[in-house]
Amino acid sequence: MPDNPTYRGRIAPSPTGYLHLGHAATFWTAQARCQARDGSLVLRIEDLDRERCKPKYADALREDMRWYGLTWNEGPDVGGGLWPYVQSERTAFYEKVWRQLAATGAIYPCRCTRRDVARALGAPHAGEHEANYPGTCRPDQPVPFVESLPTDVNWRFRTPTDEAVVFHDGAAGPQRFVAGMDFGDFIVWRKDGVPAYQLAVVTDDAAMGITEVVRGADLLPSTAQQILIYRALGFRAPAFFHCPLVLDAAGQRLAKRSGAHSLRALREAGVDPATLRPATDR
Ligand code: GLU
Repeated sequence: MPDNPTYRGRIAPSPTGYLHLGHAATFWTAQARCQARDGSLVLRIEDLDRERCKPKYADALREDMRWYGLTWNEGPDVGGGLWPYVQSERTAFYEKVWRQLAATGAIYPCRCTRRDVARALGAPHAGEHEANYPGTCRPDQPVPFVESLPTDVNWRFRTPTDEAVVFHDGAAGPQRFVAGMDFGDFIVWRKDGVPAYQLAVVTDDAAMGITEVVRGADLLPSTAQQILIYRALGFRAPAFFHCPLVLDAAGQRLAKRSGAHSLRALREAGVDPATLRPATDR
């Protein structure tokens, strides 16, 4: 990351559905923090999940964000394009980082299927959190790969077992996640040639010189994993600010499939967007 005191923030939606009030509130906070520091805000479209992402949602999210009152200084449709701001156009950046991690043995190829992992763990896994990888393919020592990287396999990050990753979150306060307990060796590169979220987001936030990442609190555990990737790459991690999740009347977090809270539906119902914005004194 460039050693530049200027604040650079980003908003990074995935076009898997219409944005809802939770996304909008987080992006509003990102914008407010950026404006208060006279910074630049980058819009990045995170569309690596080819099955779930649709171009119509990428168009819709830009329209809906503008209606809500969000603006950005750099992104797919403004700022002259220093680089592609759409993740599916950034493969060359990710490949470079994948090679860099492989060359130091920070990651290793893994041939296990989901079923293999479930079988090795001996129990079906319930809940949202992905089961920790049991280490079947993990070499005892880091193995550097330089010339030929196996491409028909997943690649996992070799986490430092039992080490606590601690960081201060600007909104949520002190955080602590233990590698090998709170998360296991996680996938950074998929056998279909697509980087996993953790690798793509670190590559992009570093390349784009992001100084503070503002996003939803559901990504706090991911931040610990991303800090390990920054460290393995020798990059300085940005500051983090994870916003509390917006809940519906029944106390459930909003989902893209629960249409009533979508910006699109509210806009079509003639709601004034000013009434939807969170109060923020950031
Ligand atoms: N694209 C992710 C999402 O929409 C957000 C990733 C991030 O902010 O790091 O959930």
